[in-house]
Amino acid sequence: MDFLRRRGGGASGSAGGAEKPAKSAAPAASRPIIPEEVNAEDHQVRLSYAAKSSEGVRLGSGREAKAELAGMIGSLAKTPVEVVDPREMDTGQASPSIIRTAEAQAWLAAHGSASPITRHALFVLEMLDAIDPAYETFACALLDGSTDPAGYPDFSAVVGGVAAHWDESTGDLIVRAIVAWGGRGTRGDTDREATRILSALFRNILESGRAMGLVDAGRPMIGGGLAVVSCPHCGFSSAGQRALYCPKCGMRMVRG
Ligand SMILES: [Zn+2]
Repeated sequence: MDFLRRRGGGASGSAGGAEKPAKSAAPAASRPIIPEEVNAEDHQVRLSYAAKSSEGVRLGSGREAKAELAGMIGSLAKTPVEVVDPREMDTGQASPSIIRTAEAQAWLAAHGSASPITRHALFVLEMLDAIDPAYETFACALLDGSTDPAGYPDFSAVVGGVAAHWDESTGDLIVRAIVAWGGRGTRGDTDREATRILSALFRNILESGRAMGLVDAGRPMIGGGLAVVSCPHCGFSSAGQRALYCPKCGMRMVRG
């Protein structure tokens, strides 16, 4: 303490400097006793998100089939079906993560005008890496449960529908049933209800009249810096060595 005082006084050498030691001495006199442990107030939130998706179904005459995606949700939809086309020129940087501002801005530019139900569904599905709107088309509606007055699904509401992309080797349309739910809470029966809805959606896809068979869910690889082929129609770049068709628009790819 003596050392600090001397230094403070010596540096200024003015009347103001002489007051300083008196000021700093006052709080030191009333310094509280340091406790063994801090008296902490806890703040916590438990969030729970989940999704389920089916195998992919290969559809014949894909061009026309794509127009039928909304119809595949059919009577399961409790709200009008919204069809979300793949994001324009997205190289995978858009993300619904508010603290990653550049990614969040790209995401809002793409989906900010979608309905609260669709935004909730995309938020959950993208966070769980269950969908990739960089090349997938998504038809979405509220499938079970309810929304709050602002139109956002509550934690036990099931949202989703079908997701589609073009097979990179054959150019066929591949459609999956996909559902999601979650938020600040969980209910024991949501998982069971989601499975029931997923099965019904999957049946709808198979019964669409164009189903040619099932495909295992090998998803296209987005190129970015590693692109070996790119689409001359929509600009999508793929890292798939044998990609012949664009998973985003279904047109022929060209070797880069
Ligand atoms: Zn394309």
